[in-house]
Amino acid sequence: DRINVAIDGPAGAGKSTVARLVAQKLSYIYVDTGAMYRAITWYMIQEGIEPEDQHRVNEKVRDMVIELIPERDIQKVLINGEDVTPHIRSLQVSGLVSQYAKIEDVRSRLSQLQRQMALRKGVVMDGRDIGTTVLPDAEVKIFMTASVEERALRRYKELRDAESVTLQQLEHDIAKRDRLDEGREISPLRRAEDAILLDTTLMNIDQVVEAIVSHCRS
Ligand code: C5P
Repeated sequence: DRINVAIDGPAGAGKSTVARLVAQKLSYIYVDTGAMYRAITWYMIQEGIEPEDQHRVNEKVRDMVIELIPERDIQKVLINGEDVTPHIRSLQVSGLVSQYAKIEDVRSRLSQLQRQMALRKGVVMDGRDIGTTVLPDAEVKIFMTASVEERALRRYKELRDAESVTLQQLEHDIAKRDRLDEGREISPLRRAEDAILLDTTLMNIDQVVEAIVSHCRS
């Protein structure tokens, strides 16, 4: 029988890479919830709506159509029919996303969509609050971490070609985002009581994927 798999953890722990591979191995659908928060953030920036202006944020969030289209390798995120995927990984979006992600109406709209996507089971979903809030009944819950130095290094290797940024800057940005995500009032980043803690600092991707897949099959 198909199950749902929740993978949570701080920024840069490798959740999305691992979640995608786990989904591939199980022939499940991968849902990247961070991409949805990033898409909203990019959209608000385009519209010139600051996170402090919660009234306008709420209005926009209510009216917009947001779709997540799982494809083989990447997930496409569409807002009002427009593919915003190419824009959501920028440093500008990464720097602002936590400010929008703490807003109640943003979270409730996205959580509802995420639950709908998991209704028929067979979903691997990664984020910050999946095991605690979005899918508290997920059959397998993983909380993935790694030291902040290792996480910054992984991001650095990913980004290096695309944007000029120092390792030190990335480490600072990641630590700041974690603090904001852990410190917010609504569904903060937290390990669910029944989640398996996986510290991946000294593990490679294959080892992490194998560990999770074997949990899913047991
Ligand atoms: O996973 P990723 O780093 O792309 O997530 C970007 C941001 O989106 C996080 O730092 C967090 O602020 C927000 N997020 C969230 N809840 C989720 C997924 C992401 O608040 N389930």
